[in-house]
Amino acid sequence: MIRVTVDAVIIGAGPNGLVAATALARAGWSVEVLERRDVAGGAIGSVRTPKGYVHDWGSAFYGVLHTSPVLRELGLDRRVPWAHTSSPVGATYRPGEPGVVMRRTATETAQELGEDAAAWLDTVAWWERLGVPLFAAMMGPIGAPLPLAKVLARATPRELVATARTLLEPVEDWTRQRYRTEAARMLFAANATHADIGVDVAGSTPAAMLLAMAAQQHGMPVPVGGADVLAQAMVEAAEEAGVVVRTGVDVTEVVVRGNRAVGVRTADGGGVGARRAVVADVAPTILARDLVGEQHLPGPWLGQLRRHRYTSGYFRLDLDLDKPAPWTDERLRDAMVVHVTGDLDELALSQAQVRRNRLPDQPQLILGQQDRADPTRVPAGAASLWVECHCPADPPVTDWTERFADLITERLEAHAPGLTASIVERTVTSPNDLQRLDPNLVGGDVGGGSATVDQMVVFRPVAGWSSYALPVAGLYMCGAASHPGGGVHGLCGRNAAKTVLRTSRFRRAT
Ligand SMILES: Cc1cc2nc3c(=O)[nH]c(=O)nc-3n(C[C@H](O)[C@H](O)[C@H](O)COP(=O)(O)OP(=O)(O)OC[C@H]3O[C@@H](n4cnc5c(N)ncnc54)[C@H](O)[C@@H]3O)c2cc1C
Repeated sequence: MIRVTVDAVIIGAGPNGLVAATALARAGWSVEVLERRDVAGGAIGSVRTPKGYVHDWGSAFYGVLHTSPVLRELGLDRRVPWAHTSSPVGATYRPGEPGVVMRRTATETAQELGEDAAAWLDTVAWWERLGVPLFAAMMGPIGAPLPLAKVLARATPRELVATARTLLEPVEDWTRQRYRTEAARMLFAANATHADIGVDVAGSTPAAMLLAMAAQQHGMPVPVGGADVLAQAMVEAAEEAGVVVRTGVDVTEVVVRGNRAVGVRTADGGGVGARRAVVADVAPTILARDLVGEQHLPGPWLGQLRRHRYTSGYFRLDLDLDKPAPWTDERLRDAMVVHVTGDLDELALSQAQVRRNRLPDQPQLILGQQDRADPTRVPAGAASLWVECHCPADPPVTDWTERFADLITERLEAHAPGLTASIVERTVTSPNDLQRLDPNLVGGDVGGGSATVDQMVVFRPVAGWSSYALPVAGLYMCGAASHPGGGVHGLCGRNAAKTVLRTSRFRRAT
């Protein structure tokens, strides 16, 4: 039974849903957000253990958010107490040998990089002059001429062609020709492991560039207290704008009448009517199959949607320690994110195994040491490691999760001898566990679908339908599966809200 009718119903209180809701409410719309979990925030959440450790079960680091206009628009810069370490990112690639760290300023990082100092400063200078407006243009609404004009105004035609090549070049080649030392190469290239793009694959340079340069420019901030402090701040911004956020409400159907979305039904037998828009922060495959129903969607659109590929999952470990990790390279003790990768060859081989649905022999590890900046997250004197790596959701082996967790722990022990002895508790989260926590994380895919070049920009998530509107009037997508993709930046939601408002101008509310 329809309980209430509002201008817009948002399905899902992930960061993109909350950002879209806030934008619509600020435009004067009445907006309800319906979230199936008991807590809002999507894949931004924290669990507090009985022993006093805080585990961010999903996202953990918010460098990319700090490149996004959403940070200030929602007041997240002032609502959230952000914490930093002196080193946003580090990498260790050979057991027993020194690794490398980035520092808070480019000049300090250059000092760490010896003979690659000048090349690092060149990269940063390029980022500040051309990279920042270029990425802003690439991640904003598609077809918006103004941001693109800003990029064109700053560069010569030859520079633009060279930049286009950089955007397509595999990051292993880009770093090999740009940096002489393995340290600089790994400091930069290991950032590509956050996406699913192999370092030997076209399009991996922009993936690494965004993360590396965001970290150099903004650090790798974490919220004091846990990631859920950020989620609460997003809810606060939405509610301040007048949005009603309801948790524990599972949307089971988008109601379509005469090819128009007019509301939603919920698992408790209720529903909410939508005068102007239903905006779904929901994986598009689930939206089409389970919520809208394929009978309401045109065959060619469904055909293109079937080409949308999800990618490998994330495997997560939380290691509660009785003291900080004993890294061989002591500089890593203060790095917020540590990449444990091996060299470029090992990295490429491992990524290829995952793409072929195999468990990697040498998992590519992304580690977080949030408590180094925020000691409130652990008992006094203790520490924790937030660990993630790509792996298939369903590799062709049985009972693999604990053995894979052992392999990861052994790999860490090689870079931090003595670590295993200081583990108080180990919590394993498999890719399928992630999907159980949030159905948008299909097979543990944290980015709403592969970020390879054939799935980005105008191809995302359905070729030719990258404007957030679906082929049902009044129905829109705003989640990470839409342009510009995964990560906590809120831009999918922000861009989607712009489309919703623009489209609604052509149709009077009834
Ligand atoms: C383990 C992990 C680590 C990550 N690390 C980082 C990181 O460090 N930094 C970073 O920037 N990004 C990171 N990410 C990625 C980032 O969290 C996601 O890309 C981002 O959360 C996507 O936001 P979203 O709003 O599109 O969707 P989600 O965050 O997935 O939120 C969608 C919401 O919709 C709800 N929902 C779905 N279906 C329904 C329904 N039918 N009815 C009601 N509610 C529904 C879900 O319960 C969920 O709350 C990570 C993700 C994971 C899982």
